[in-house]
Order: sequence, then structure tokens, then C-alpha cells
Amino acid sequence: MWGMIATWRMAVEGITKGAQMLKNGGDAGDAIESAIREVEDFPYYKSVGYGGLPNEEMEVEMDAAFMDGNTLDIGAVAAIRDFANPVSIARRLSHEKVNSLLVAEGAEKFAHKEGFERKNMLTDRAKAHYRKRIKEMSAQAASQKLKPYSGHDTVGMACLDMTGKMTAATSTSGLFMKKKGRVGDSPISGSGFYADSKKGAASATGLGEDLMKGCISYEIVRLMGEGMHPQKACETAVARLDAELKERRGEAGDLSLIAMNPKGEWGVATNIEGFSFAVVTEALEPTVYLVTRQEDGLCTYEKASDEWMENYMKTRMAPI
Ligand code: ASP
Repeated sequence: MWGMIATWRMAVEGITKGAQMLKNGGDAGDAIESAIREVEDFPYYKSVGYGGLPNEEMEVEMDAAFMDGNTLDIGAVAAIRDFANPVSIARRLSHEKVNSLLVAEGAEKFAHKEGFERKNMLTDRAKAHYRKRIKEMSAQAASQKLKPYSGHDTVGMACLDMTGKMTAATSTSGLFMKKKGRVGDSPISGSGFYADSKKGAASATGLGEDLMKGCISYEIVRLMGEGMHPQKACETAVARLDAELKERRGEAGDLSLIAMNPKGEWGVATNIEGFSFAVVTEALEPTVYLVTRQEDGLCTYEKASDEWMENYMKTRMAPI
């Protein structure tokens, strides 16, 4: 058995490519890296890689991670600028015994020395979004200040290859208008991602500050390790964290999770409307699903219609 599952519709082209590799006996590390690079390279996805939305200072600062579920090797970069494929730098760092999570200038120096491709990641389109947001914010009364972009979409993936190896990886430009130096859950082990080939792999998208409060990717892998089906594990962990946050803080940020176990079974859960994901396995062609959350915290999903898929691309590419 082999398979891949990923957050958001934007991942479907990537996992389609990854699936080709897995089908031919490819490695879960290679497949996940290539799948995430595909998302990083596409200029119209405004929350990952090239074309990602900038921070308050109009700089695109990116976070990414990679984990090998056989060796438990982890590599990550945070607040890195001007490199085309943060996920590849993260994977390269996962081979280091020490210094495997690097931030900002240190990460950039490492990537430069290792010969990773430099690229100005700030597109004209992202600048236009930034200027528009600045205008909107100054037009609002101070009392009802617009919150930063809330459609923050990290690409997070879990992958299983034919040998039973599992990996997890993430890549994101983080929250639009974030403070310089702000780091979310995506490069943080156990929060944005976790992979253990014996138990399963999981990854998150949503409000990093809240996802980190529950170490939620680790929690899902832990539950799968106790024999829970990935769907149940995702629903359980999301419902619990959502409830804890509401009880203690009065509100919970967006929490959306995907997971796969070593049998290639998979699951998702969310506490928001409008979460989509993409999945492929030996038995299922690459498919995008839309998730609906029920009152009781259980989540159902249905295949995205052709109309929805077309509309998605149209809005991504529409003039700003
Ligand atoms: N979790 C990411 C962060 O907080 C954002 C996202 O998922 O889009 O940086």
C-alpha cells in the first residue's frame, strides 16, 4: 500500500506527481518533497512559497519542515526569505544531527552555502494584496480593526511508500501581515507535523498559535499508535483541543488536520467551514474533498464538484 494526503485543494497537483513516484516504488521522502515543491512553485497560491503573502514589513518569510518516520529525523526552517523551496532546505537539514532547525539569517546562510536556489518570493500580485489590505485597515475604525488575512493555508502532507516508510512535511508563508520574526506551528515538530512509520503521520493548518497549544499532530499520531483509525484520531484530537481552548480562553482558532496510518487508511478533521483536502492511495485516484463539520465534532466530506474546482482556480487567478 502507498498513499498521500494533504491539506487544501492546492495540493492536488503535487500529490498527483508524488503518486507517480510512489506507484513506481519511489521513496516517501522524495515523493513528499516533490509534491510540496510543486505547491511552492505555483505563483497563484498566496500562502505557500512563490507568491506567498508578506509580513507586516512586506517581506515573504517562510516556514517549512520535513520528518522521516523511520529514523524520526526532523529538519525545519523558519522565517527564511528569498529561497525558492524551503521544504528542500528543511529536508537537507533533517540529515544533520545538530542544528537541524534554523531560523531567518542563519537558515539563509546555510541554504546559500548548500547551493539552494535563491529567488525573490515577493510577486507583484502579493504586493497588490498587501497594499489593498493596508488601505482596508486604515479605512476601518480603530475599534473594529480588520484582522489579518484569515484564509491562511499551509500545505501539510503525510505520505506512505511501498516499503512502509512514512513522512510528513509542511510549507507556508504563515499569516498575512504577521510580525517580522513570527513563527507558526508549521516548522514545529508535533504541532504542524509528525511522522512515525510505526504509527502514522499527521499535519496541520490553521492558527499556529492555537495548534501549538495542543501539539496536535503528535497527539493524532499518538492516538493512531493506540490503534485508533486516522479519522477517529483526527476528530478526537480536534474536538478535544477545540473544547479545551473554548473552555479556558473563550475561543478557539482554526484547527484543520490530515492524517494517514501505515495501512494507508486516512482521516481529516476541522473546526471550521470550508476546509478542503487532497488524497491519493493505491486504491483511490487523486481526489479533492470538501469537509463538513457536524455539531458533535464528527466530520464528513464529499468530493469537490467540477464547478467548485473551476471556480477555485478562477478566484485564485482573478484580478485583485
Ligand atoms: N498554521 C500556519 C501558521 O500559523 C498558517 C496556516 O495554516 O495557513 O503559520
